[in-house]
Amino acid sequence: MPTSNAPFSDPNCEIAMCGVYCSGCPVYRVRCYGCRSQDHGSLQKRTSKWNCKKRACVLEKGLSHCGECSKLSCALRRPLEKRYLQQYHIDLAENCRQVKIQGSKLWLESQKKRYTCPKCRQAFSPYDLRCQKCLP
Ligand code: SF4
Ligand code: SF4
Ligand SMILES: [Zn+2]
Repeated sequence: MPTSNAPFSDPNCEIAMCGVYCSGCPVYRVRCYGCRSQDHGSLQKRTSKWNCKKRACVLEKGLSHCGECSKLSCALRRPLEKRYLQQYHIDLAENCRQVKIQGSKLWLESQKKRYTCPKCRQAFSPYDLRCQKCLP
């Protein structure tokens, strides 16, 4: 599993260790290179990921993501999982399980589909829940 921000063609770079769909985020490649990036260069404005305990835990264990860990869902993840479920209707533990079952390429395709507006065919942010142009 690469942890450099260079190989964007590698679908693993688009998925955070915790199961977040990194490349669906509007700031991906704008001010954040995803949670796997280790480049502390000027393009990285979102630096909080380097203090993330879940990210560090996955890396320390030599895993790709929490879906490969027998402790899913551990106490470290629970507040984040709760927040994502409540605010964004995103089940991060299930994301991890599905990345493990489907593989990252197929799972990313499913996410792209999920966050493409059926009306205007444009991608929308997972954090918006639905296309903001075609509301409701
Ligand atoms: S919780 Fe950690 S690994 Fe997950 S998206 Fe946030 S910074 Fe990245
Ligand atoms: S499930 Fe918990 S213990 Fe396992 S790698 Fe993820 S954060 Fe670490
Ligand atoms: Zn739309």
